Order: sequence, then structure tokens, then C-alpha cells
Amino acid sequence: MTAVVPAELPPVIKDVPGQEHAAAFLARALARPHHAYLFAGPEGSGKRLAMRAFAAALLCPEGGCGQCRSCRLALGERHPNMLILEPSGPDILVGKDAADPNTARWFASRAYLTPPEPGRKVMVVLQADRVRVEAADVLLKVLEEPPTDTVFLVLSARPDDLPDTVRSRCQEIGFPALSEDFVVGTLVAEGLDERRARLACRLAGGNLGRARRLAADDRQLSAFRDDALVAAAQAFQGSAGAVAAAESLMAGAKDFRGRLAEELKTELEPFLDERGRPEEPFRGVVRRLEEQHERRLRRAEREFLDWALLSLAAYRRHVALAVSGGDTALIINLDLDVGDGRWTPSAADQAWGAVEEARAYLADDTNLNARLVLEKLFLRVSALAA
Ligand SMILES: [Zn+2]
Repeated sequence: MTAVVPAELPPVIKDVPGQEHAAAFLARALARPHHAYLFAGPEGSGKRLAMRAFAAALLCPEGGCGQCRSCRLALGERHPNMLILEPSGPDILVGKDAADPNTARWFASRAYLTPPEPGRKVMVVLQADRVRVEAADVLLKVLEEPPTDTVFLVLSARPDDLPDTVRSRCQEIGFPALSEDFVVGTLVAEGLDERRARLACRLAGGNLGRARRLAADDRQLSAFRDDALVAAAQAFQGSAGAVAAAESLMAGAKDFRGRLAEELKTELEPFLDERGRPEEPFRGVVRRLEEQHERRLRRAEREFLDWALLSLAAYRRHVALAVSGGDTALIINLDLDVGDGRWTPSAADQAWGAVEEARAYLADDTNLNARLVLEKLFLRVSALAA
């Protein structure tokens, strides 16, 4: 059997950015889809966009036209024949029973049901490496006895953490990290000026979606960075300053959550009647969106703090480079000036390290008291500068 590269990729697949190999693979797979695929690659490499595109191609009567109702719903992860499982807390849990939403049992129980609309079903597992052992066993059973006309799409940024039993049931598609030039080039092609695109890309750690959102929104692009820098300046006023700095970042995070809540509300509007209630055919969609929004909002403050610390780290790195006469091509905060004269190269390096460490702590453990981590960080940085 020879694998033939399709002369023309389906329109939805063609739109998957920067991943020619994965796109060609998916386009070939459409003719006779395997029952499970693993989309493996780091955050921001485009796995989720590719998953949506592939789902659209699987569900569209035209094989992925990108225009029809099926395509639009699938691209928005709202197609009734799509089911998505993702961690509702830190892990994907096994769940009490089939009625326990967003758990492995809930997901698996739906695998053998007739889909709401004629055609295939697409069952998606996001952040699959966060599946608990008992939950993995439940998923494995479904993967071992795949229901007909169902395609499983399993996504993971850390495929090595997936149980081997699950991984070996899937055909693996690699998504290498997107290059900075690709991300910047994409944003420039979308009409952004290059300097802004590069700043957004570096602040977003190379994640295209995040960079695009940042770049599109002045407030977003500057809010967490400004808050971070205000906090950094406050931190130099002794221990009271450190407490105030932590406080202002926490307040920034709360604001961010509020703005996000407003933004998410507008996503529900197309499915509501004039009295603000879900229209009958969209009940399920609305419930799923609401659940998604709740999870998104629960993560929002942490996300803001991560962004703020990321830009603070970028700033500290900038200072460290500047005081040691380093390569300015690496400087991240391209629109900021540096040089307050209080840093030795080694102290500047340590301050940068302290920020990265705080970021890692907060990313690893969602139960940590964020305020305390921040206070400690700012005390340390101010002691280093003194
Ligand atoms: Zn279509």
C-alpha cells in the first residue's frame, strides 16, 4: 500500500498553520480513517487547530469544505457528533458513573450510542497525559473495542506521560513546535506590524494562538505586562512594597477574570433566544459551553499570573542581558528601556532565575497560595537589587 499525498488538501486542512507534514498525513488519513489518532506536540504547536480541522473534514459531507454548517460547528467544537473530554480539575478522573460529566466513564458510555446526527462521531480527549490510571483503563476498553464510525482524537503535549497501553492504540502524529519566524510571519501576513508581532510572539512563548490574541488587543498586550512592571517597581520599596506588589498582581488577575467572563458571555449569544434562554436544539451545546467557560474562568487568574510572570521574566532577562553587555537580539521586551543602575550581572541573573522559579511553582501546583509565592518572589528580587 502506498501513501499518496493528495494533490489538493481539503480546505479546512489547508488552514492548519505551519504543520505541513501533519496536514498531509491527516488529508491522507481521511480516505480510510484509523479509529484513533494521537496528536502529540508542545503547547502552541497547533494540535487543537488540527484536531478541529480534522474533525470538520470527518464530519463534513464534502470532506472538509470549511464553509458548511458541519464544518463551522466542528471548527467551533460545537458539532453535536463531537464529544470532548478534558480535565475538569488537574486530572481526568474516572468518575462515579456515566452521569458524572466530563469523566472517563461519562465519555466511554457515549462511545457506543448512536450519534445525534447521521454520520460519524468524533471523540476527543484533550490534555490526555493528565488522565488518571483508573480513567485510562476505562478509556482503554473503548479503544480496544472501537465503536463503528467513531474516530478518537487524543491530544497531548507530553505523550511520554501517557499510559503505553493507550498510546499504542493510537496512530501518532507529531506536531513540532512552531518557529518564531513562522509565528511572526503568520501574524505579519494577518496585517500586524513586525515589531508588535515579535513582541507578542516572545511574550506568548511562541504559542501562535496566544500571540495572536495578545497582538490583537492593546489592553491584553500591555495589561499583564504593565501590571507586572508596576509590581516590580513597587517591590523595591522594602517588605511593604513586596506585599503591595503581590497585591497589585492579584488584583490584576481578578480584573482579567472579569473581562474574560464578559468576553465569554458573547460566545453564548448566538444560541440564546430573545429572553436569554438556550434555544431548544442548542441546549446541549450551551451546557457544554457553560461548563467550558467555568473551567476557563477557574484557570483565568492563574493564567494571568503566568502571563505577568512571563513578561516579568522577559524583563528580568532583558536587564540581565543589558548589564552584562549581552546579545541585544535576544531582548524580549523590545519596547522597554533598561538600566536603572542597581544591578550587578550576577544579581540580575539571580533575579531572573527567581521569577522563572516562581512561575514554575505556580504552573506545577494549582493549590499553592499564589499571593505567598508572589510576596516571596518580590522580597527576594528587592533584596537582590539592594
Ligand atoms: Zn463542510
